[in-house]
Amino acid sequence: MTDAQVEHFFATLRAANPHPETELQFTNVFELLAAVLLSAQATDVGVNKATRKLFALAPTPQRMLALGLEGLEAQIKTIGLYRTKAKHLLQTCRMLVEQHGGRVPREREALEALPGVGRKTANVVLNVAFGEPTMAVDTHIFRVGNRTGLALGKNPLAVEQVLLRRVPPAYRVDAHHWLILHGRYVCQARLPRCAACQVAVDCQFQPKTATR
Ligand code: SF4
Repeated sequence: MTDAQVEHFFATLRAANPHPETELQFTNVFELLAAVLLSAQATDVGVNKATRKLFALAPTPQRMLALGLEGLEAQIKTIGLYRTKAKHLLQTCRMLVEQHGGRVPREREALEALPGVGRKTANVVLNVAFGEPTMAVDTHIFRVGNRTGLALGKNPLAVEQVLLRRVPPAYRVDAHHWLILHGRYVCQARLPRCAACQVAVDCQFQPKTATR
């Protein structure tokens, strides 16, 4: 994809959705962190269903710790890998309380030191909570980047680094949301909906499918 096509690609996505947002539901930065941690290999819809009640009970790390392991597991057992996630979430809560005054840190290193929090989760928190122009490369962004020719890379980190170089500054803060939503609803894994795709003119994928 040429630089002009990259510009047009994001201008088109922005025109269609000027203020893209995560589909995870949360009311504070701690809930955002917890929701992203719980969302690994799970759908946002499934996570939201469980966290609606969980966050009403435990909107802070202190209250989450008070639930205890069994109490937390009972709230999230509809989410895949819930036992591991419950353990990590409580360990993370303990670190937040003991090392960060109960707050979510805004430094990448401190975020990635939290149990269950990898680079992608840190990128989401840095972007959504703190407005940093990070690229949280998930399965959708990885696929869209490679398929369209926007950001070729053999692994998520490689795609992230290309995106950070290629996405024009005006689009950097919102780029990862546009790409996730585009991958989730249009440029789908098994059958991309090319005939309904607004950025088909810029996309390098061949052959484009006729699916609407
Ligand atoms: S044209 Fe097809 S392959 Fe290209 S971005 Fe759109 S849906 Fe994806």
